[in-house]
Amino acid sequence: MRYISTRGEAPALGFEDVLLTGLATDGGLYVPESLPHFSLEEIRSWRGLSYSELAFKVMHPFVDDAVPADDFRKMLDETYSVFTHQAVAPLVQLDTNEWVMELFRGPTLAFKDFALQLLGRLLDYVLEKRKQHVVIMGATSGDTGSAAIEGCRRCEHVDIFILHPHQRVSEVQRRQMTTVQGDNIHNIAVRGNFDDCQRMVKESFGNQSFLGGKTQLAAVNSINWARIMAQIVYYFHASLALGGPDRSMAFSVPTGNFGDIFAGYLAKKMGLPISQLVIATNRNDILHRFMSGNKYEQHQLEHTLSPSMDIMVSSNFERLLFDLHGRDGLAVKTLLENAAKGPVSIEDYRWKHARKLFDSDAVDDKATCDTIREIYEQNEYLLDPHTAIGVRAARNCRRDQAVPMITLGTAHPAKFPDAVAESGLSVKPPLPAHMADLFEREERYTVLDNNIAGVQEFIAKHWKNA
Ligand SMILES: *Cc1c(COP(=O)(O)O)cnc(C)c1O
Repeated sequence: MRYISTRGEAPALGFEDVLLTGLATDGGLYVPESLPHFSLEEIRSWRGLSYSELAFKVMHPFVDDAVPADDFRKMLDETYSVFTHQAVAPLVQLDTNEWVMELFRGPTLAFKDFALQLLGRLLDYVLEKRKQHVVIMGATSGDTGSAAIEGCRRCEHVDIFILHPHQRVSEVQRRQMTTVQGDNIHNIAVRGNFDDCQRMVKESFGNQSFLGGKTQLAAVNSINWARIMAQIVYYFHASLALGGPDRSMAFSVPTGNFGDIFAGYLAKKMGLPISQLVIATNRNDILHRFMSGNKYEQHQLEHTLSPSMDIMVSSNFERLLFDLHGRDGLAVKTLLENAAKGPVSIEDYRWKHARKLFDSDAVDDKATCDTIREIYEQNEYLLDPHTAIGVRAARNCRRDQAVPMITLGTAHPAKFPDAVAESGLSVKPPLPAHMADLFEREERYTVLDNNIAGVQEFIAKHWKNA
């Protein structure tokens, strides 16, 4: 399988190189040159497969000969055995034909584990083969950092440095990162804000000379293709559990960077009958504004009760724009260069096509809390604020009651106790058993000044073979 850039100028790459590369050299994102397509008959024959067997069927065409079939099967068995539910992604029923798919049974209690548990293993496998080492450098405001650290903790050929803004992430989120012990795990608390952390990461990728040519940086943010790939699987999993592919499904997806919902769009293109995809955003609603008015325009960041969806632009949306423009990379390049300067629109027929593919809704904090309370009162089932946004959007946008509506449950409510409290409920969501001692575990992190030279010096000194 070959991968091409959404901006049309960077060279095509194979899976291994795409895994190790962040942005393409032309500033674009990598996408498969063509998608595998499965017939209904083939999908039907997957009924009854375990999650990891199904993951093999869906993903092996993308990975190809980078990982031979037997090794890939073994890797997937290991990856999905760390989840704490036998079904890996269990479905919980909310109402007639309405479901939540719980994607938070992994080590850090959010859906990012599905991709990052696999990504760590894939990286180590490919690096072992190539006798190479990489340094992962990333900035986090919460969820991504812990999932990336958990995903890389057993890697032999990877050192991971995660920057978080000192005293500006929640205690649960900080502890999920800093209590993971391992010689290759390095947490840096920067005396600055999230943007400062992100800027240091960006600049370091641009000029890696501080590593002395002895290793190279790798990215694990949601622009990494392997993360999208891993997220396609659970759409097939949910559908097969509810009578697919002989009936079609609707999905509602709490969305920030457009990674998770883009995976649903790909599942549909690969042959899974999906009749509705709902983009559910919080008040940071650039996608909803585009879908309702064909205007793509950056607004100020708003802090909400669903912080993992607090974004100003949606990085993976570029991958959809590429398809909407008939895969014309230069058109995408021009559009996004203009978008950096001010609002942009796309041709009307292209926008109408986007509206056929997706519905959308923006849900504010009050409606989020109302939904948490309503679902708890109806079912004694507690939603986290991100999932609540998905459920609310699903109910607002639903087109056909006969089609099962599945909201992606992106995080465990214990990660976001403030939102539960704000919804007026007196229940406190407990941490699951395997994390119950989180507040007693030993923490390890280094506080550094908001100064890129100091951070780079720390990294150069502390990676494995430095
Ligand atoms: C990352 C995240 C999201 C947003 O996912 P995208 O792929 O960026 O759209 C939603 N909910 C939770 C809990 C997350 O951690």
